[in-house]
Amino acid sequence: MKFGGTSVGSGERIAGVAGLVASRLPEEPFVVVSALGGVTDSLLALSRAARDGDRTAADAALRSLGERHRAAVDELGLPDEAAGECRSLIGRELARLGDLSTGVSLLAELSPRTSDAIAAAGEILSCRIVAAALEARGVPTAPVDPREWLATDATFGSAVPDEAAIAAAATRRLLPERRAGRVVVTGGFVGAAPDGSTTTLGRGGSDFSAALLGAGLQDAGAQVSAIEIWTDVDGILTADPRLVPSARLVPEVGYAEAAELAFFGAKVLHPATIRPAVTRGIPVRVKNSFRPDAPGTTVRAEAPGDGVRALAMRGGVAALFVGSPRMLGAHGFAARVFATFDRLKVPVDVITTSEVSISITVDERAPLDLLARELSEFSDVQVLRGLAVLSVVGREMRKTPRVAARIFSALGDINVVLISQGASETNLTFVVEAKDAPEALRRLHRELFG
Ligand code: ADP
Ligand code: ASP
Ligand code: MG
Repeated sequence: MKFGGTSVGSGERIAGVAGLVASRLPEEPFVVVSALGGVTDSLLALSRAARDGDRTAADAALRSLGERHRAAVDELGLPDEAAGECRSLIGRELARLGDLSTGVSLLAELSPRTSDAIAAAGEILSCRIVAAALEARGVPTAPVDPREWLATDATFGSAVPDEAAIAAAATRRLLPERRAGRVVVTGGFVGAAPDGSTTTLGRGGSDFSAALLGAGLQDAGAQVSAIEIWTDVDGILTADPRLVPSARLVPEVGYAEAAELAFFGAKVLHPATIRPAVTRGIPVRVKNSFRPDAPGTTVRAEAPGDGVRALAMRGGVAALFVGSPRMLGAHGFAARVFATFDRLKVPVDVITTSEVSISITVDERAPLDLLARELSEFSDVQVLRGLAVLSVVGREMRKTPRVAARIFSALGDINVVLISQGASETNLTFVVEAKDAPEALRRLHRELFG
């Protein structure tokens, strides 16, 4: 059971989570928690303020982080000893953050390693507070620091998990707790590199932690019936309800569709969540911690029904149009283009080609100027910023009549910069200007879902 930031946003919410876990004890749950909602953002803001030498902002961030966690502990009304332990942990963690941020200020430099050491504090604290709440309900609980089991490489900021080492840690550290009758409560998002330094899996990474935990437990011989992602919406909906209020629940989706939705911006699931689950056949369930009795969405290998399932949108995208006057009949052009992306370690997103050009979208934060300079050594390059990717995701979409026609007539006068149909038949993707994207999404939703 993984609980996201909104599900553990306050003492009251944490008490609700403890109740939910307590009601599932016969199923022997393992619990993964995110930082209290908004805390990771505050920690990253603290890092930036420290780097920029803005001590006033850094000190204010430290104070409000302390207040936020102490308020959650107060609200829980824990027994004195447990409350005291939580308060002293908060004190120690804040002292560590204070030292780290002073160091960053003195050096005026924020390395990815230091950024992770700071960003990890949210999950380190939330895990102990949620564990204390569960223990206070009379449930024997084992808070486990995520660095004790989530082994990763040393790619700070988006660390790559070591699944064999995680399975070994599940055998050594986690399953014995369950055998002793204790519920393991651990933090998501955070891991440890081989030398022990703190890493993170990237934003939204607690979903990934939950999937890795489920996978690791299964590899260690446990039977894992499901990975549950508890959040603040009823499940995977036909579109982000913040943008399309009339979005409806999707009761079941296939792994491939869920992966496309996540990749193309449906924040409800971290893109990497699916992989460890799919390779082991473990279903993933997305449920609402505010309405636990609602059925939620089940993600499984294949879901019944063809056609359009849901829409996703992701902003912050740029496009590069790479043309070669010599492409006609020439071979090796595409290889050179992609070799450039590879050399600069820029992942490509949506790709389309014509006879004389290749269009590629990338994250807007990629080194666009450098890319353009290197590509222009052998091609004509144009860069367009301020774009968004919209994706229509479903199953066997190529066989579904008129989908493309309906999509394009719904878009009406909205200018489409790029179009691509994934080879997997699970998506039809196009790129529009970011300012048009929310309206495009609403028009598409009206056309495809009524
Ligand atoms: P958590 O803190 O639980 O990890 P997130 O904010 O990461 O929660 O993800 C939940 C949010 O994802 C929802 O509040 C919703 O706004 C957003 N979202 C985006 N696309 C979708 C979608 N297709 N279905 C449901 N929620 C979506
Ligand atoms: N707390 C982390 C974040 O906000 C990880 C997560 O919540 O999934 O990105
Ligand atoms: Mg999330």
